[in-house]
Amino acid sequence: VLKVTEFVTVSEVATLMDVSVTQVISACMSLGMMVTMNQRLDAETLSIIAEEFGYQVEFITAEIEESIPEEEDLPEDLEARAPIVTVMGHVDHGKTSLLDYIREENVIAGESGGITQHIGAYGVTLKNGQKITFLDTPGHEAFTAMRARGAQVTDLAIIVIAADDDVMPQTKEAISHAQAAGVPIVFAINKVDKPTANPDKVKESLANMDLLVEDWGGKIQSHDISAKTGQGVQELLEKVLLEAELLELKANPDKLANGTVVEAFLDKGRGYVATVLVQAGTMRVGDYMLAGTHSGKVKAMHDERGKAIVAAGPSTPISVLGLDGAPQAGDKFHVFEDEKEAKSIAAKRTQLQREQSVRTQRHITLDEIGRRI
Ligand code: GDP
Ligand code: MG
Repeated sequence: VLKVTEFVTVSEVATLMDVSVTQVISACMSLGMMVTMNQRLDAETLSIIAEEFGYQVEFITAEIEESIPEEEDLPEDLEARAPIVTVMGHVDHGKTSLLDYIREENVIAGESGGITQHIGAYGVTLKNGQKITFLDTPGHEAFTAMRARGAQVTDLAIIVIAADDDVMPQTKEAISHAQAAGVPIVFAINKVDKPTANPDKVKESLANMDLLVEDWGGKIQSHDISAKTGQGVQELLEKVLLEAELLELKANPDKLANGTVVEAFLDKGRGYVATVLVQAGTMRVGDYMLAGTHSGKVKAMHDERGKAIVAAGPSTPISVLGLDGAPQAGDKFHVFEDEKEAKSIAAKRTQLQREQSVRTQRHITLDEIGRRI
């Protein structure tokens, strides 16, 4: 039995199982996952990997997690919420360009002032009034970090493929990530402004992978776009919303908030700043929150336009001031009625994490000392 906290990293897992980090990394690769030493693994992957080495995983934090109150939602309390979308794809196929275009250009209606803050996520309102929340964290690493311990954040994935290129290794990786998470895909066939663009070739490659897009008689949504000129982007987003409608995304806004940390850092002037995505309930200034091994009273909240706000409902990304440290991307957060409870859970988690890191410190052998000298 392998006793771990939810914060266990690839290298710690290796030490606990007494195998090399490389062995764990290649075991992950055979599952189609590229991981680094310090990366955390989601519970499911961790279990599979451990089993391969003859171990059974037991989460020692389970008891603490169970002490976090989860309110049951009545069906009548549920309200529609905006879809949360991640953009993935091969390097240089245009992920950043697409996110930038959406952020900066006129697909946003009736919103005063552009998006000024990079907070790792942002919301847009389409001309028809419908909203989409984008996770804007670099690469798909964010996506895997978010999934650590089953923190499912993304409702839908846009997978960008350059039409002057083809389906590439990271495209395939993105597709398998989305499929493994059960997240619907909308393909964005990008760079169609280029004279060398051949969208049909890309669609053919997808068809050869049993991924039939609409105009090839299949069910998967896809749209030809140019992230450079903006051609087709509006229509792409409408297809995203269409796909999202089928998911009937709902959440209860009338309870204490919970959600997931998108990113966090220490700002010299303001202290710890955490971008969080509220997934259920409503977060308010003055709330006591717990995120990973940290807690604190919410002093202020800002949206992606830098505007101070007092309340944030489901699917809203928000940057929060007031935590006593920087939680990690993918950490769940919860708001508590009472500050002491948030603090005590944070302390217990810290303690368990410390114990784990003590257990995973490699013992230096005399032989190694010899070699160093
Ligand atoms: P990422 O690695 O997927 O984030 O790709 P980037 O957004 O950084 O784009 C890679 C390169 O392709 C950059 O030089 C972009 O200017 C260019 N690019 C992205 N989208 C388009 C497009 O629609 N048309 C053209 N012509 N170039 C594009
Ligand atoms: Mg990029």
